[in-house]
Amino acid sequence: MNNNKFKCLFLFLIILFLMGCAARNIKKQSDIDLKKLEERAKYLNTLSDVHARNYVQIYFELANAYMSSGRNEDAIAALTKGLRVNSWDYGNQYILAKLEIKKGFYQQASERLNFIIEHCNDPSLIDSTKALLSMEEFKNIKDQAVLRPNLHNYKLYILKFKGANPLIVTSIASRITQEFGLMVEIIEDEAIPSESDIRNKASNQNLSMQKQYNATILLDQILKIYKDKLSEKMTLGILGIIGSDIYAEDYNFLFGLAREQIGVISYARFFDNDLAWDIVIKRSVMQAFSSTGFILGIPRCTTATCARAYPHNLSEHDRKDDKLCMICLENLNKKYATTKTNKDQITESQQFNHSSESMHGAASTQSVISIVKRDNYE
Ligand SMILES: [Zn+2]
Repeated sequence: MNNNKFKCLFLFLIILFLMGCAARNIKKQSDIDLKKLEERAKYLNTLSDVHARNYVQIYFELANAYMSSGRNEDAIAALTKGLRVNSWDYGNQYILAKLEIKKGFYQQASERLNFIIEHCNDPSLIDSTKALLSMEEFKNIKDQAVLRPNLHNYKLYILKFKGANPLIVTSIASRITQEFGLMVEIIEDEAIPSESDIRNKASNQNLSMQKQYNATILLDQILKIYKDKLSEKMTLGILGIIGSDIYAEDYNFLFGLAREQIGVISYARFFDNDLAWDIVIKRSVMQAFSSTGFILGIPRCTTATCARAYPHNLSEHDRKDDKLCMICLENLNKKYATTKTNKDQITESQQFNHSSESMHGAASTQSVISIVKRDNYE
């Protein structure tokens, strides 16, 4: 071997060695970054006053880091947590759908992609979404995808009672939009819950809140304060969210109470010592789905894994999925098909009540109540 050849070989080996070092350093750095993101997510999940934007962003960043490391299952879990708080992030809905397709979860991917098409206004994302949906694998599940309820011109209001956690309120609003196919608007002003008939819960040591509110009175309060919103033609109802404990009549406590058009849920008992936010959010969203179903007038669900099934305790609640079952989706579709007619009837009834209010004052609240069927205690 002459001298030049030897130099070339030596140089080549040096370059190979440096490239190997660089690759190792990049891998080491990305492992460190991933670890930092995981620690941050864990930390945010235990903070009591975490902001929704921080919470969501960390899960999306974490998902991105997992995908770069080829850890797609972890990426799916992180994206799912982020989208539980902000379903309106269509870009990440699309990314999650692509990962689901890779795993062969075509049903979930199909629902997600159809959700993007129905709600998103970005033409290029809609084009990419349609391209994915044209895959052969989606043809067999097309009928099920059609089941996804859609009544986007109609609105459900979310009312935040004073002190309710914004992260929980946002998550509920976001997931109802996605699962029920409705427009959801959070009422800007907080409501101060009525303290009539309030109980003191000094005996209950697990609850940080000492006050227990009468849920029936809260429903009447919503009816009274927001009767104008309830009589809007495209409004389906109002769901109140309170962080304090609630009760009614013979019930020591309730997770929720709802009638047609109005409901209230409490997440006070969904907390536990050091319980992570994602579990509290999941429990609250499932309760909100159940009460929203009653607000819209669909019956209680008996499918054990459905978000709307009645839980006897928190461990049963946790075993459920934060999604509606096929029976609830069918009931919702039937209800939506007749909603317009029903809304016309309700609007007429409320107009009558409003006119009688001007003559009889407070008696009108009772008249409005008479249009609803019955209370659903949960
Ligand atoms: Zn169901």
